[in-house]
Amino acid sequence: MADCLFCRIVAKEIPATIVAETDDALAFRDINPAAPVHVLVIPKTHHDSLAHAEDEQLLGHLMAFAAKVAIQEGIRDDGYRTVINTGRNGGQTVDHLHIHVLGGRRMTWPPG
Ligand code: 5GP
Ligand code: ZN
Repeated sequence: MADCLFCRIVAKEIPATIVAETDDALAFRDINPAAPVHVLVIPKTHHDSLAHAEDEQLLGHLMAFAAKVAIQEGIRDDGYRTVINTGRNGGQTVDHLHIHVLGGRRMTWPPG
């Protein structure tokens, strides 16, 4: 989608600090990190949100890729949090499906 921020990052039209990549997914650092490690894992194809993504193979790939990114970032053993904000009540601000991978500090629960 031409006017989608994350599609433009996939197309390399907007710079991002990419940490890992597969044929179908991209992982890059969040521009406004909420934790010492804050990586966004996105599909290279556009899906508005989790509620709009029906490709189970792709969803599985994204989750497995997020776990690999956590290993690469050195946060696997201490633990980390994966978050998918969906829609208005979920707090989603960029309408391209993404998984937040957050680590490097103790998280609290429940989320705000
Ligand atoms: P959401 O609120 O939709 O779950 O998460 C969107 C995330 O994208 C936010 O954490 C925000 O900091 C991040 N973000 C917004 N614009 C950019 C950008 O241009 N580059 C990068 N790397 N991250 C961005
Ligand atoms: Zn997009």
